[in-house]
Amino acid sequence: MKIVITSDCVTCGLCADIAPEIFRMDEELDIAVVIREPETDQETMQVQESADSCPSEAIHLTE
Ligand code: SF4
Repeated sequence: MKIVITSDCVTCGLCADIAPEIFRMDEELDIAVVIREPETDQETMQVQESADSCPSEAIHLTE
């Protein structure tokens, strides 16, 4: 799975709350960034939930 966060991110922090192993907030860039790709089914589900919940649809997933 490839994860891309676009500049549409509004820095709400939701993705980092849902999947803290995968996303973190970069305070300098003022955007969410990807720490690493998901490695387990649970992490993949958390990433999918983050993308579905993102208020600005800034998380884009590809296989
Ligand atoms: S959930 Fe979306 S808008 Fe919120 S921090 Fe993550 S990428 Fe940005």
